[in-house]
Amino acid sequence: MKKLMAANWKMFKTWDDARATAQELVDLSASALPDDREVLICPPFTAIKAVSEVLGPVPGFSVGGQDFYVREEGAFTGEISPAMLKDVGAGFGLTGHSERRHVLGESDAYVGEKTAYGLAAGLKVILCVGEMIEERKAGQVEDVLERQIRAGVADVARDVDPNDLCVAYEPVWAIGTGEVAGPREILEAHASTRKILQSLFGDNANEIRILYGGSVKPANCAEIIALDNVDGVLVGGASLQGESFSQIVLA
Ligand code: PEP
Repeated sequence: MKKLMAANWKMFKTWDDARATAQELVDLSASALPDDREVLICPPFTAIKAVSEVLGPVPGFSVGGQDFYVREEGAFTGEISPAMLKDVGAGFGLTGHSERRHVLGESDAYVGEKTAYGLAAGLKVILCVGEMIEERKAGQVEDVLERQIRAGVADVARDVDPNDLCVAYEPVWAIGTGEVAGPREILEAHASTRKILQSLFGDNANEIRILYGGSVKPANCAEIIALDNVDGVLVGGASLQGESFSQIVLA
């Protein structure tokens, strides 16, 4: 199983800046990328094509969308379909990111609908899950993971190709705050995630990658990526510069 080193650029970067950052990342990391790693960048929609032009020819590097809608086309103002993402070179899509759940109000059920739709439409999907700080303080981490994962994959075939589905554990309190979860918190949450996936997908679950996200930086990535059941990382802030993301990718 290859570790997936994924970048989420959120609502940052123009076309030119995106292209320059992607090129800098390739220059700094492509020739040294270990065989057991792959790299993904999820730019804003407007820069996907620019980034895919840079990454397309580079082995081990690919592009994804940060979101998509659950129809192929139609009167859905402002939305983007999986087919449109694929058309500009994106092979992955994110679902359930905490900003979409908690800022934009997406429900567990809608995240599940989107995950199943994206997979059926031929995207690889990274389903993001994670608890808020109040839920952690109340001892509800496992309950939140169980609820979000069960709803998130409710309509996903039990024999899904495990290479097509990833789950990213992203504690909401660690996203963009500089506060990274400690090794014990990550180990516990990833073990719970694996157990929940096994109860749903059987042995297939052992091949589903579980990523950690939440204030990953060059200085903490090597320790995090070495933990049991950590099959990659999803990085926001520290992925915005080619230099710092290259250090994460190679950590
Ligand atoms: C994210 O946006 O998924 C994320 C983990 O952000 P950051 O790395 O900035 O915490």
